Amino acid sequence: MALNDYYQCDVCGGKAFYDANIYDSRYVATYDPTEGCDPIAIKALCPSCAKTHEVIVREKEAGAASLNTETE
Ligand SMILES: [Zn+2]
Repeated sequence: MALNDYYQCDVCGGKAFYDANIYDSRYVATYDPTEGCDPIAIKALCPSCAKTHEVIVREKEAGAASLNTETE
């Protein structure tokens, strides 16, 4: 299966999980700005990076940028 059929690891860009058959519009909106709803936020690691990294969820600071506006 092609790399673009997978959500890509937020550390190395490798295959994190198969997402080609996820049609939830909130998920699709994470990469398709034509979706008419607010995207959900997803971060994931591939099996290799999961051995050395972790995903941490925390509350945004007041005034933080909205979803999908990573600038760094
Ligand atoms: Zn990785």
